[in-house]
Amino acid sequence: MNSSDHSSQNITDLVQHTLEDLGVRDRAGVQELFNQLEVRLQDYIRQIRDSDEFKKISRGETLERGERHPSVDTEAVRVLWLGRKQGIVRFITDNWLAPAPPELKREIGQGLNALRASVEEKIASLINPPTVVNEPEQGIDITLPGTRRTVGVRHILRQAMDEITEIFFALGYSVEEGPDIESVYYNFEALNIPEDHPARDDQDTFYIDARTVLRTHTSPVQIRTMEKLQPPLRIIVPGRAYRRDTPDATHSPMFHQVEGLAVDTHITFADLKGTLDYFLKAFFGPEVRTRFRPSFFPFTEPSAEVDISCLFCGAQGCRICKQSGWIELMGCGMVDPALYSYVHYDASVYSGFAFGMGVERLAMLKYGVQDIQLFFQGDVRFLRQFR
Ligand SMILES: [Zn+2]
Repeated sequence: MNSSDHSSQNITDLVQHTLEDLGVRDRAGVQELFNQLEVRLQDYIRQIRDSDEFKKISRGETLERGERHPSVDTEAVRVLWLGRKQGIVRFITDNWLAPAPPELKREIGQGLNALRASVEEKIASLINPPTVVNEPEQGIDITLPGTRRTVGVRHILRQAMDEITEIFFALGYSVEEGPDIESVYYNFEALNIPEDHPARDDQDTFYIDARTVLRTHTSPVQIRTMEKLQPPLRIIVPGRAYRRDTPDATHSPMFHQVEGLAVDTHITFADLKGTLDYFLKAFFGPEVRTRFRPSFFPFTEPSAEVDISCLFCGAQGCRICKQSGWIELMGCGMVDPALYSYVHYDASVYSGFAFGMGVERLAMLKYGVQDIQLFFQGDVRFLRQFR
């Protein structure tokens, strides 16, 4: 056997030895060794390139279950040859180059550099196979359209919620959040909603078990916050709520609310009216007028519905406002003093107001969206209108 023919030797074994061990003593012997390594390298690359998996991926097809993506083998080849601690290039540096006689170092160094470059280039060609073009000599055609990467935007409901939050930030409110899965106590009892109230019916509420529900409103966070903090208190609670509604153009079993609560000394209904009037003008525009109508909610007394002048007809009367000139928007009221007993506030000292609004409803009115389902269908043709 020729002393420089090591082609049958295990490749990692080969690079574990010094050139002296291998019987290589001249430049021609060094070149021959590197030639053999290049041949082995090409074998590895060919095996991947000839695999069914690589061919499928190159044709843009999908792999079957149990097939291995060629990138796995490509990475194994990279580690075998270029691995920092146990790679072939590393062993050559340590075992061939370092102990070599001075007259061979230059040859080994050049061979090593060429080998490293060859490995990198071959791996790159596996990862990004050259595309077959009709006129290869022409190179890149810069007149072809480029790959357009679409940039995402915040969902329109998130934008609306952020906008609402910003307006209340300016009024000195802070944000509180609470769990979507809520106890019956916080969702109903502590909010003055008795056992026989229709809202507690199975038909209207998703029950996890007898004592746990998907919260039907964000109001439980009012109680949770009052338990935690002493007045003065000014918070808003943005979040999801759930009700057993059949989906239609105006109902969804999951929807978003922003709830607000202010508790302090000397808070009156005038403060509530002023706050919501300011908010609605900031959100919908300064020309909007507000109207408060008496209503009923279990946890506020007195309670009111807030209407805004119709955005579509300037309060002249149209189909959307049912010819009334007004659009029903949200509920509010002075916090029922009975609630303070649940959180140990002194009802003779403190008073406050609360309000709640549906984010979908506000967004539908502001942006002229006709169907609430559009918010949840993920259709980019709809979503991209709200950049
Ligand atoms: Zn109208």
